[in-house]
Amino acid sequence: MTSDVVIAGAGPNGLMLACELRLAGVRPIVLEKLPERTTEPRANGLVGQVVRMLDRRGLYERLSGKPGPPQPQPGFVFGALPLRLDVLDENPLYLLSVPQRRIEEVLQERALELGAEVRRGHELIGFSQDEESVTVRISGPDGPYELQARYLVGADGGHSLTRKLAGIDFRGVTNDSMVSLAANAVVPRELVDPATGALSVPGYGVIPAFLHHRTENGLFVFAQFPDRPPLIATGEWNGAPDGPMTFDEFQQSVDRVLGVHLPVAQPNGDGPHLLRRIVGGNSRVADRYREGRVLLVGDAAHVHSAMGGPGLNLGLQDTINLGWKLAGAVQGWAPDGLLDSYEAERRPVGQRVVMQARAQAALIAPGNEVTALRELFGELLTEPRNVKRLADLISGADIRYHDGPHPLVGRWAPDLMVGESRLAELTDSGRPLLLDLTEDASFAATMTPDRIEVVAVPGEPSIALLIRPDGYVAWVAEHDGVAEQEGLRDALARWFGVPMDQERPLTSATR
Ligand SMILES: Cc1cc2nc3c(=O)[nH]c(=O)nc-3n(C[C@H](O)[C@H](O)[C@H](O)COP(=O)(O)OP(=O)(O)OC[C@H]3O[C@@H](n4cnc5c(N)ncnc54)[C@H](O)[C@@H]3O)c2cc1C
Repeated sequence: MTSDVVIAGAGPNGLMLACELRLAGVRPIVLEKLPERTTEPRANGLVGQVVRMLDRRGLYERLSGKPGPPQPQPGFVFGALPLRLDVLDENPLYLLSVPQRRIEEVLQERALELGAEVRRGHELIGFSQDEESVTVRISGPDGPYELQARYLVGADGGHSLTRKLAGIDFRGVTNDSMVSLAANAVVPRELVDPATGALSVPGYGVIPAFLHHRTENGLFVFAQFPDRPPLIATGEWNGAPDGPMTFDEFQQSVDRVLGVHLPVAQPNGDGPHLLRRIVGGNSRVADRYREGRVLLVGDAAHVHSAMGGPGLNLGLQDTINLGWKLAGAVQGWAPDGLLDSYEAERRPVGQRVVMQARAQAALIAPGNEVTALRELFGELLTEPRNVKRLADLISGADIRYHDGPHPLVGRWAPDLMVGESRLAELTDSGRPLLLDLTEDASFAATMTPDRIEVVAVPGEPSIALLIRPDGYVAWVAEHDGVAEQEGLRDALARWFGVPMDQERPLTSATR
């Protein structure tokens, strides 16, 4: 059987890529080795540009369960140091507090709605490739079989077999010094502020909800949710006992980290309740994101500490960067180098996340020197421009994929109003968008093939933008003129393979 693209792994990134490919008209088959989704809790939420990106695909309300667009977060942390974001003129940090299991449910629902095929209980066990296709070997419930596809994408997590079989190195470091314990645990009710969720620990002080908090002895997190038991986590550097973790071990760690006794108890009611010990962690980036017809996304391409929750901000944006480019390669319209621009654009972002995750790890480590470093950082963070710089780094709002004559080129398209609509309401189709808000809509009359959406509404500011399907700006003009028209033709050719010598007019329907 032949398919356009086989995706190994139905985690959040494999499922999101399937949605993107379907939107672009490509047929993916998603293979998932587990017959049922795992109940093991992982992400508690999404942090950064990914929240705005999901909004631009119409998925934010579905995930948040609330009407209306995402709102920036008034505060966050970097290396357990508080960041006052409400003082910023432009706050780039958005948060969506939804457990990973729910994220996967929604993405699978959407992928199936769009017509993707998800095969559970089907494990990729090998592949071979030639110039034309990839032959994927699979172990399914009825035995082994093969699938032929134009491309294979490994979205099979940090231990990715796809990456290993493609011969791609996963360089970086394994750090086994930090022991992280996490449990669903309740504390005496009177210690929790019902308004803020902050925890008052007698003899210690107030610990804000949800944010990493460093003490002289370790790391502590307290998070209370409306629909599930509270989550408490500790981090220490003293080694771990052998054998399965016990709740008593957890209580002792809580007391050591806080330096006082805080009574914690396992929740009543049906579980499963989390009781997890993780020793150490990896921070690694794949040497290449592509080997011929095989590509990597998400944890298969990069792993790092989960501190600050950067994993899905990174991974889901890989998929939205890759989806339309891979569709171009499958459908034959991709200009030279488009598919390779996936690695060129996303690998440096992965390396940057590894850098900031390691920097945060350094800031939470024990010791007087670290305490002094934190004091200095704390002073620097009284300056809003330093706070902004870190907020841009954590959120990924500082990404500029490529230079151009206008400062917006290569950057995330700003949240403009287009008539009565938000830009995010015009991008759920995942198609490239030529947005012409100039007086005479002259750019909208430029030749554009049908696969490019054109929206022309005179507006304020009087600007025209060509926006890639992943939400990044390919071209901008603030005036009418020959130079700008040529720039638009260049950008249409560079990103969407529109021949430069095509005769006008070839305007698609306006929306
Ligand atoms: C404790 C913890 C807390 C975290 N908290 C956060 C957070 O708050 N925010 C955040 O953004 N990120 C967080 N992360 C990171 C986040 O969970 C990962 O980045 C994310 O799961 C990566 O998604 P993925 O789809 O790339 O890989 P995975 O979620 O690992 O999915 C890979 C899928 O591939 C399947 N698979 C593997 N091999 C094969 C094969 N050979 N054939 C077929 N299928 C295969 C697996 O069964 C799995 O379903 C956390 C991680 C951990 C461990």
